[in-house]
Amino acid sequence: MKAVSIISLVLALLPPSYGAEEPLSFPEAMMTIPERTNYDRTSTFAEVVAVVDALGQSSDLIHRETLLLTEDGKDVPLLVLARPPIVTPAQARASGKPVIYIQGNIHGGEVEGKEASLIAMRDILFGDKQHLLNDQILVFAPIYNADGNDNMSSTSRPSQEMSPLLAGERLAHGYDLNRDGMAVETPETRALYLNVIQRWDPALLVDLHTTNGTWHGYSLTYAPSYHTAGDGATSAYTADVMLPAIAASVKEKFDLNFGWYGSFDYRDWPPTELRTYHHAPRYLTNNMGLRNRMAILAETFAHDRFYKRVHAANVFVEEILEYTNLHGREIQRINAAADARTVSRSSQSTAAIENGIQFEMVALDEPLELLSYKYIPYTTATGDTEFARSSEIVTIPGVHNYNRFETTKWATVPIAYVFPAELSEVAETLTEHGIDVTILEQDTRFEGEVFGITGIETQAFVQNLHRNTLLQGQYRPASQQFNAGDYHVALDNRLANLIFYLLEAQSDDGLAYWNFFDSYLQSQLAQNPGDAAAMDFPVFKVLPFVASQN
Ligand SMILES: [Zn+2]
Repeated sequence: MKAVSIISLVLALLPPSYGAEEPLSFPEAMMTIPERTNYDRTSTFAEVVAVVDALGQSSDLIHRETLLLTEDGKDVPLLVLARPPIVTPAQARASGKPVIYIQGNIHGGEVEGKEASLIAMRDILFGDKQHLLNDQILVFAPIYNADGNDNMSSTSRPSQEMSPLLAGERLAHGYDLNRDGMAVETPETRALYLNVIQRWDPALLVDLHTTNGTWHGYSLTYAPSYHTAGDGATSAYTADVMLPAIAASVKEKFDLNFGWYGSFDYRDWPPTELRTYHHAPRYLTNNMGLRNRMAILAETFAHDRFYKRVHAANVFVEEILEYTNLHGREIQRINAAADARTVSRSSQSTAAIENGIQFEMVALDEPLELLSYKYIPYTTATGDTEFARSSEIVTIPGVHNYNRFETTKWATVPIAYVFPAELSEVAETLTEHGIDVTILEQDTRFEGEVFGITGIETQAFVQNLHRNTLLQGQYRPASQQFNAGDYHVALDNRLANLIFYLLEAQSDDGLAYWNFFDSYLQSQLAQNPGDAAAMDFPVFKVLPFVASQN
């Protein structure tokens, strides 16, 4: 009798989702390396592929494609999960279901998203998450920076607690893949744009990271795509509707605190500001905003133990997919409406419209309650103030939430850009973004504006092997002859906001900033030594409503 009562007591205490059912059981080959090693190790590329293979051998709902062949020769998998199975984008479009794209490990040392994606795929194919294929198509790239992942060392994530000793390096062959969204200089970004964005047209991109330091009190922090010069609706929905709903459901189901990505200065204790990262579309999540698609940046908390970080990433992925499974059609409608607005706005030719090219971070009207580890100020023997971090997590009210961007510089949106044939590298990069670039068949005169350069500055610091270029000057009305063979890029399409941001002379993340015009401008300067003011930016803006004055 006693034994029976203990069993009923135990059953009564079990979480309701498990009830008295048999626990889920998987073959060992489907278990990730951290799960098999008591979280001592993270997976190598080969070990990720072995798990993917094990999943594929037992299910026909998973279709493997090649994301890319890396410089080190790795065939990086892209996994399409669907029920019924989907192997072509045409089948995906015909199904009407939204495609949701999840990528892990873009920074090779930030391994949690990689492991969490493998666990999510296993749960969806064989576990308790099979309903997540009811009304969506899922595309996973668990190991985006495969070369960086396998370049493991004990020093790549030195500040993380209880981590695997060995983790990959952040970069891929010297490049930060999450700063390459505009210049497209790496095989990974080229592959993402061609084999995921253009091929599968995901309605939502999720990019999984792990932070580098701030001792906030959240298991995971997130950010929407900061839309910069894009249509605001996709970002607003992600930030105001989707992410708060997901955070609430994570709190309810798992008692985990997820919150806004950001950092603060503990030396200004208690913090009054939480500041997010950056609006620039060199970050892939922000790039999606210029394409009228949604995106989420996720950062697990570096100071949680490894198994907790993997759990937080896995919970986030699965709760995002719970949300998109129910609200995917709504997401598709919002994206499509943003497409339609972008096309109609950029096709009009009766009046000048302006869009932002430079931005600053501003606070939301509503302050937030910040969860953070508490810092205790103390005075050293020399009289300085230092701060000790305590183990207590506190709630700090009234913190200004710097989580939005406002335009500080505007430019007129043209109906097309035209530039000379010698700038073929510019044309190639636009094409890699998925933008239609046409070649003029005959000599043509265009009316519009040209940007007269009065100064060229070079940024002091190096990023992604570049010292970026900043142009000074102003537009003036002009009429300019172009020749057969020169390039023409029309804005009467849904990528107009991206085209504008790439080609504007003073865009803070455009191709001019990424040095694409430096050698052209240098050769111009060689013809007029010392006189930058004699130069025009070579990309002409076609504006039919501008009355030319020359
Ligand atoms: Zn990262």
